[in-house]
Amino acid sequence: MTLAEIEQILQRSVDQALSALGAATTADELEHSRVHYLGQKGFLTQAKKSVGQLATVDDKKQAGKLVNEADARLRKAYDDHKERIEAALREAELAERWDVTLPGRRSLRGKRHPLTMTADDILDVLGSLGFMRAEGPEIEHDWYNFEALNMPREHPARDMQDTFYIDDDVVLRTHTSPVQVRAMLALARPPIRVACYGRVYRNDHDITHSPMFHQVEGLYVDETVTFGDLKGTLQVFVERIFGARSKVRLRPSFFPFTEPSVEVDLSCFSCGGSGSGGAALGDDGRCRLCKATGWIEIMGAGMVDPEVLRFGGLDPDKLTGFAFGIGVERVAMLRWGVPDIRLFFENDRRFLQQF
Ligand SMILES: [Zn+2]
Repeated sequence: MTLAEIEQILQRSVDQALSALGAATTADELEHSRVHYLGQKGFLTQAKKSVGQLATVDDKKQAGKLVNEADARLRKAYDDHKERIEAALREAELAERWDVTLPGRRSLRGKRHPLTMTADDILDVLGSLGFMRAEGPEIEHDWYNFEALNMPREHPARDMQDTFYIDDDVVLRTHTSPVQVRAMLALARPPIRVACYGRVYRNDHDITHSPMFHQVEGLYVDETVTFGDLKGTLQVFVERIFGARSKVRLRPSFFPFTEPSVEVDLSCFSCGGSGSGGAALGDDGRCRLCKATGWIEIMGAGMVDPEVLRFGGLDPDKLTGFAFGIGVERVAMLRWGVPDIRLFFENDRRFLQQF
């Protein structure tokens, strides 16, 4: 083979190889061309062998240079095209993964639990009336939970509550009233005006009772606190929580820690107190919410028993006070017509999303 022949073959083959490499559209096709033209059996390898057979040193030099140039040119063309194919592939993958025309996926936002909303509303109203927040332990001494509230060990009133006892002297508090005693002892000087909020526990479980539930209690002790103050406070309270047309009715009752004691009824906000009509209409045309009585039992209240004031370190000859307690779950159930207390604690989003 002569130098001229080698030169000719190189020229033809390089052109062929360039167009073959350029025509490849996938990495596989490109690799196939590379092996064909630049591999062991490719023309370049053949050309390198032919160089050694040339007659003169000058021809060998000349031919070697040509072969090396062709080799470099093809490898660069191969690298460039490989990069183009990979870039196109990346772009195609991105386009597939990120379809910017699709609607966005909305992330779920948390919000307050209906019981928290209700408790916040109650505490807001009490706060605006001057009641300061007070808190106490959920695991409570028997003394604060019972004894200081006029329920000594043998008192029959203790039977009214199904208590979770930790041991003989320690209980899960059955109401937020022990916080009243703690507040009186801690603040010591009137006026004492506190709103106690928190979890309480009773061994009770059905559609209107949960072994754990929430109470808010109000306590006001000062030199001239009267039963009229209690009634006025309750009236303002129900108007703010249940609407301006709400009324309260007080019925005589008994609690060991208040004297006199009352059950507080709220005029039915569904039938307007008429007992018929309204949104909670039963098949018989009577209001189901108030069972056609026009009134809904809403909380307990009364004037603080002088003995309880004494347990709280206060002088019942100089001071009087009132107290009331309300169940947060009860208010929430009434407000939104929730039929089963357990729904609040099941954490079912379908339920919770509605508030
Ligand atoms: Zn009614």
